[in-house]
Parts: sequence; C-alpha cells; structure tokens
Amino acid sequence: MRTLAITLFVTIIAIGCGTPAPPPEIIETGVELELPSGFDDASTTIVADNLLADVSRLASDEFEGRGPGSDGDRMTREYLAGRLAEMGYEPLFDDESYEQTVEIVGLTANAPTDWSFTADNGSSVSYRFADEYMIVAGVQEPRVAVTDAEVVFVGYGIQAPEENWDDFKGADLKDKVLLMLNDDPDWEPDLFAGERKLSYGRWDYKYASAARQGAAGAIIVHTTESAGYPWQVVRASNIGEQFELVAGDEPRTLFNGWLTWEGSKALAELGGHDLEALIESARSRDFQPVPLGVTTSIDLGVDVHPSSTANVSGILHGSDPDLAYEMVVLSAHHDHFGIGEPDDTGDTIYNGALDNGVAMSQALAVAGAFASLPERPRRSILVFFPAVEEQGILGSKYFAGSGAVHPGRMVTNINFELGNVWGKTSDVIIYGLGKSELDDWLAAAANTQNRTIRGEQDVKAGWFYRSDQISFARIGVPAIWFKSGVDFIGREPGWGETQYAEWIQNKYHQPSDEVEDSWILDGLVEDAQLGFMLAAAVADADVTPTWSDGDEFEATRQEAVADLGR
Ligand SMILES: [Zn+2]
Repeated sequence: MRTLAITLFVTIIAIGCGTPAPPPEIIETGVELELPSGFDDASTTIVADNLLADVSRLASDEFEGRGPGSDGDRMTREYLAGRLAEMGYEPLFDDESYEQTVEIVGLTANAPTDWSFTADNGSSVSYRFADEYMIVAGVQEPRVAVTDAEVVFVGYGIQAPEENWDDFKGADLKDKVLLMLNDDPDWEPDLFAGERKLSYGRWDYKYASAARQGAAGAIIVHTTESAGYPWQVVRASNIGEQFELVAGDEPRTLFNGWLTWEGSKALAELGGHDLEALIESARSRDFQPVPLGVTTSIDLGVDVHPSSTANVSGILHGSDPDLAYEMVVLSAHHDHFGIGEPDDTGDTIYNGALDNGVAMSQALAVAGAFASLPERPRRSILVFFPAVEEQGILGSKYFAGSGAVHPGRMVTNINFELGNVWGKTSDVIIYGLGKSELDDWLAAAANTQNRTIRGEQDVKAGWFYRSDQISFARIGVPAIWFKSGVDFIGREPGWGETQYAEWIQNKYHQPSDEVEDSWILDGLVEDAQLGFMLAAAVADADVTPTWSDGDEFEATRQEAVADLGR
C-alpha cells in the first residue's frame, strides 16, 4: 500500500459561460487516498490509442448508432462482453451471462393537432401540438381517453415531509388534470437546497407525484428558467417513439403534458385566474390546490411496441475475503439513437462517438487498468454498461430495482458520460457538486494532476439527474459524474466554452457525432486516469465516501446498509 496524504484547498468556482463567474468559494478539505501497489504502472496502461480503438469500433457505421433493440445494439453488447471477458472480468448475471435482459415498450402517441380547454361559462382555448403543447401517453395501452376532466392548479406538486412541504393538503385530485410548476422551491438558501435543482424539481417526479394523487393527467408549466432548457428540447425529446420499462403496479397518469408559458397563462385566464398570482400563492407552505374552473377532454391513439435490449456487466472479484462482497461500480451507457432522420449531408446513422462512445472507451480502459494490477483491489470492481439511457435512463433504473446486486453492496458509482476530445484542462467539473464526500476524494485525486474542481454553472439544469449516476443515487449508492472542465491548457480564456457550445450546436444528438481526426485525446486519458485513481482509492479504503449530511439520498443509503445487515 502506498499512502498519498493530501490536505488541500479546493477552489470551487462556477464556470463563466455567458455570465460572469461569481467569486471563488474556498473550502478546506483533507482527504487521504490510499492507492494499491503498482497503481502508477497500471494507470499508464490507459493511453489514447486504446481509447481510440474502442470508440472507433463502437461508433463505426457498422454498429448502426446502437439504437435499442437493433442489430447494432446486439453487436455493441457482444463487443463489450467480449472486451470484459478478455480482461478477465466474470459475467455478473445468472447463467454465467454478461447480459441482463431489459424488456422495454416503445410508445408513440398520435397527438391531436389541437387540444382544447373549456371554462364553466362555455368559452374555450385550444393549443397547437408541438408549438404550444406536448403530450405523451402515461400508460402502455393503445388508447387513452379523458372526458371533461377538471383542471386543478397544484403549485409545485411536491410532497416532501423533510421540508415540511405538501402542495396537495389532502385535496381530492382523483381523475383530475393537474397543472403544475416545474423546478422546486428555491427562494431561500435552506429551502430544497436553494438554487440547485433536486429530484423534486424534475418532470419525472412531477408526473409520478400526480399519479400518486390518482390524477388522470398532469401538465407542466414550461419555462426555460425552471426547466433549465428551452421549449425546443421539450418538443424534440417528446416527438416520436418514447421508450419505457414494462409497467409494474406503480400508479400512473393516463397522459403527461407540457404547456408553454403563454399557453399556461391563457389557461389560467380562461378560468378567471392570473397565473402570476397563482404562482405567488404557490410560494408558501400554506398553499392549497386551486380548481381553475376549466375542464378538458382528450382522446389519444397510442402505438405500443414491445422490444428488448440488455445491460452488460462484468465483475473483477476483490482480494479481501471480507470486503470483496462490496463493489465499486464504473458505468457508461452503451445505447444511442440508432438510424433516424437524415441530416443535411444525407447521413442517417447517429454514431454517438462522444455520446457515449468515448465514455465506454474510458470505462473499458479503467477496467483494463484494474485487471493489470499485480494484486487485485480489496473490494470488487463492477463494470456496468447500461442500456436505454438516452430515452429515460431506463437500463440502469431497471438494474437498480432488479435486485441483481443488493444496493448496500455497492459502495460507489463512478459514471462516465460524454467526454473531452479537445485536450488537457486544468479544471474538472463535478455535476451536482456538494452532494457527497466523493467530491473531496476526487479533489484529492485531481490535485495529483495539478487540476482543480468546480461545479457546473447551470445548477438549475439538474445535470446530476440526467445520466445513469441518478439510478444508483436513488437506491442510495454514493454516485459521481465528472469530466474535464473548460480551462484548456495553452488556450485563450473562453476557448473551451466555445468548443462545447459549437459541439452542442453542430453535433449533439446528430449523425455528425462521429470519430474525427482532429480529436486530441490527452484530456480524455487524464479523466480516465482520474476515475481509475478515485475507484482504486475507494476499492481499497477502510471507510468509503458517504452522502453529505442531509443530502436527499442519505437516508436511503442508511436503509440499504441496514437492510444488508452485515
Ligand atoms: Zn449520453
């Protein structure tokens, strides 16, 4: 064992992208990373050529964009399982399989061109599909119909006992349509973790919350500020086939919708209300649901298309007889959008090289580095490639709920998503900074690379809830997603922000997300080595990182560990 003792000052600064960065907040943290012998040699096995070889295969046209349920999906899974096998990882699942089948259902709602709402006095408003309203099916059935359902404004639609917050107050909301605000209350620093978005502020929580009230449907009042993205994203993400896990016995609304801000204002006005006044009333623990005096009907035909894919996972068993039962989980989703609409050049293959080819290559490289250690780490290393992340983070959610591995046995999840192909940076971004002690551990590791840690600038965008780490967090596993920041070494200030912005504009979720000769992979290598150091330190530690005091996932972790009963 080699002990790397570090006491450091971590500078936490928001990214200055568009708006000026606030002054740096200096926090002191002391973390001791214990690394296994042979760590440095193992770390040098992570090299650009290997990363490039994996991503070049996975993002090649032959893999057809890795769309769930496609031939390309099957080839991807075989490739990943083959790589794990050759590195000495054993199959994780029953019957000596690297694959865990994930049954999915594709739902395509045939939304009406116009959706109308009627006031008690007979006047009405109607909205144009895609431009003013969006709707998706809430149930996996070929037809969804609601007749003259009452519309009720329910504020944020949140029930959070730990915040002493309940927007429903026991009102009878059965079979009603709930109009709800996006985001969570954040006008005081102590309220729902202040500005930062918690899961209470995400659309998936809102719809589940409405379903628990027995509501027929839910409509979110969309604003760019409260969502963290513009209407265009709501529109693009919800047109066409939507994948879901096969429905269980959880409560479900019949439909879920969004209205633009202008549309929401008009809806409130139709019932004689002022939306801004309603929102003001919702900014209080005393808020009561407000029936708007408006009803609506809708009749949706739904194409229901069952399909299946699989998560891929292998395990490297740990060396400590007591601790090998526990595992550090490395993850990187393997799916992308497959073959779809052609772009300007006529290309129809959504290769997903950055999303998420480079991240898979990082997870494979870290897996290889662990396998090359002269002695295995004390805890086991689980390498996990979840399916169907792009449309709902479904594969990891299925795994988390499947009981294939008890949540208490997983001590940390390190997720790789997207990546940096523009060179080395002096900073590292942690999405959702402040949630767990993993931040301090990563800061200590980053310090060995002369890099500093920062959070993402747009804390309201809720990035922590938007990739596979969230599935692990929800079952209590301390989880982290980090990658290179924006301060590229040897580049002008602002250069990094420009690269990311141009990539989002020209390549994100488009056929042009392909492997390119211009890529500079030394930053990607450094990030993978950082992940290896963090994973190795946790795998060998006497005491593993926990959630921050009072974090939303802390209680779930304690229950999981207690339930394991070791
Ligand atoms: Zn992705």
